[in-house]
Parts: sequence; C-alpha cells; structure tokens
Amino acid sequence: MNIGEDTNKGDKYRQAGEWIEKASQIVVIPHHNPDGDAIGSALGVFNLLTKYGKQAHIISPNDFPEFLDWLPGRQEVIIASRNRALAQTLISNADLLIMTDFNCPTRIKGIKTWVLKSNAKKILIDHHPEPKDFADLVFSDTSVSSTAELLYEFFVGTGLESYVNHDVAACLYTGIMTDTGSFSYNSSNPRTFEVVGALLKQGINKDKIHSMVFNNFSACRMQLLGYCLHKKFVVLPEFNTGYISITLDELKLFDFQPGDTEGFVNYPLSVKGIIFSAIFIEKKDQVKVSFRSKGNFAANLFSEKHFSGGGHRNAAGGECDLDMEGCLKRFTELLPQYQKELEESEDL
Ligand code: 5GP
Ligand code: MN
Repeated sequence: MNIGEDTNKGDKYRQAGEWIEKASQIVVIPHHNPDGDAIGSALGVFNLLTKYGKQAHIISPNDFPEFLDWLPGRQEVIIASRNRALAQTLISNADLLIMTDFNCPTRIKGIKTWVLKSNAKKILIDHHPEPKDFADLVFSDTSVSSTAELLYEFFVGTGLESYVNHDVAACLYTGIMTDTGSFSYNSSNPRTFEVVGALLKQGINKDKIHSMVFNNFSACRMQLLGYCLHKKFVVLPEFNTGYISITLDELKLFDFQPGDTEGFVNYPLSVKGIIFSAIFIEKKDQVKVSFRSKGNFAANLFSEKHFSGGGHRNAAGGECDLDMEGCLKRFTELLPQYQKELEESEDL
C-alpha cells in the first residue's frame, strides 16, 4: 500500500523502524543512471544509517555523474557494473534492502534479478506514479517534490530525524534541488521549504551545493550543448514540440563523459510555445530517450506506450532499440495522433 493512500502510516513507519533496528546488513540501492535525487537519497539513507551505527552498503547499478562526485559518502558507493561479484554477494547476504527513487525493478537493470531473488525485507521510497509490487513496504507519494523530500518524512516517521546531520542534509538537499530544477518546478508546496529549512539548520551551504552541481562542467560539455542547440535542435511548431538528437560519433567529438547531457532536454522548453521536448542519445546498443513537458501533456504515458519507459507527467524517459534514424521517425510519426493534446496542454 502506498503511503499517500494509507490511513495507517504510523504502522508502516513503525514496521520500517523495526526492520532497520533489527537489520545487521543493509543495502541501499538507487536506480540505474542515478540522478541527483536517486543518489542523493541513497547516500542520505546510507550516511544516516552509518551514523545510527548500522552496517550498511550502497550499491549503484552503474556510475553516477561527475557533477555529483562530491556528495558525502560517494567513495563508499559500490558500482555494480564494475564490481558484479561483490554487489551480488552483498545483495544476497543483506537482510534489508532500501531502494530509492524508482517504481519498477527494470529501473535497476543488471542487479534486478539479485534484488528480486533476495530474501531480505525490501523498503521502497519513491515519488513516481504507480509503483510495481516488488517491495514489502512502499513509501510512495507522487505529490512530493522528490524522493529526498519523502525520505526526510520517512526519517521523521521512523524517529530517525535526529540523525540527520550535515552530511545527510547535504545529500537530501541535492536531491530536492536537482529534482525541482533549483526550485523552478514541483516545489510549490510549503512543506518542501519546511524540509529545506530543516536541512539548512544542519549548516549546509546551499549556494555552494548549487555551484558544485551546476557550475562544474567541462568546457567540452558546454561546447556539446552549443553544438546541440545550434546544429541538432529541431522545432516542430505545428506540434508545439522540440527535440535534439546526438549520435555516438558526435558524443566522441566532444569527449563525452557520463552526465554531460544532463539538462539538455530542458532547453527546447525555453522556446515560446514549446510544451513537449525530447532528447535522443545514441548508446552502444540502443537509443536513450528523455522527455519533458509543460502542463497536462503526459510525457510518462507517451514514454511508457512508445519507448518502453515511464517517469513523471512532466519528466520521463525511455529507450528505443531502433537506430537513430528509425527512432526519430517513430517519434515524429507519432506526433500527429497527439496534436490535439499538444495544442490544448496549458503552459503550467
Ligand atoms: P531523465 O530524463 O532525467 O533521465 O529521467 C526523467 C524521469 O524519467 C525520471 O523520473 C526517471 O526516473 C524516469 N525515467 C528515465 N528513464 C527511464 C526509463 O528508461 N524507464 C522508466 N520507467 N523511467 C525512466
Ligand atoms: Mn526523483
């Protein structure tokens, strides 16, 4: 049952608290290609549990971007794609798994089977719609800004709030800040700022955190962005849509590093009238797609239906097994059937 619908929140928190108390081997898991909210939340739990005196590990399915490579506890993150045997052993031996910022086991890619097979109790903390049934306790609320905000409530509910120290606060703040585009969307609920206020009381430097995340790019990344906007940005005014595509060769030209294309998908939405935006990034064996939308247009449903993906209404992602040309053809040929929705979706 989801926490948003649940009248017995207290029981669930009590149960979660008990499992944490009893656990001797806890593993914390964010989703594949972790973003600031996934890894910030996972490191937030990890740091808190460590402070609480628990034996905990954090396992990320793959690498996290360099702009997050300053988060407290980052050296402890075990990257499963590079340490498969260790990751498998830790997951198999765990008696409690705490999973952050995903609603479906496919989001953890290579470690999915180990997690599903594990006999450990599983707690899921997430803010994506309609979580699949793969955890024993689900704390899910789509109305919150971020998993990090929900995690703060989890700490309050389980009585662990007093262990939120400077390091935990820095991780949670990063999750909230990145998932709200620095408080430019999904952040109109006063509670978000109450939580931020509590985090600031731990002495974190929010201006510095902002700068470390957003002013820490390589020159190549900025040049790649310039190239994409100048050469690869296509506007389809008849569908209020804009998109960018990048091939592997182009990425190579700009010495691509993981995380470099983070945020590119938002740029088309800065154009007047554009309410749906997509970016197509060629990977070795598929094309990774990200979608953003404004107003009612459900990017997650579009992604789920046509690109094996999901996410939030205004921020979603998916993938496509066709080559780039085929992928762009699929996308542009789908738009006419959404024309009415795209025309009617209100900007905010
Ligand atoms: P991003 O475009 O920043 O990678 O992801 C935006 C949102 O879509 C995030 O909430 C993320 O969890 C979700 N998302 C991204 N890629 C996928 C995917 O391949 N499958 C699913 N189900 N969700 C995705
Ligand atoms: Mn999130």
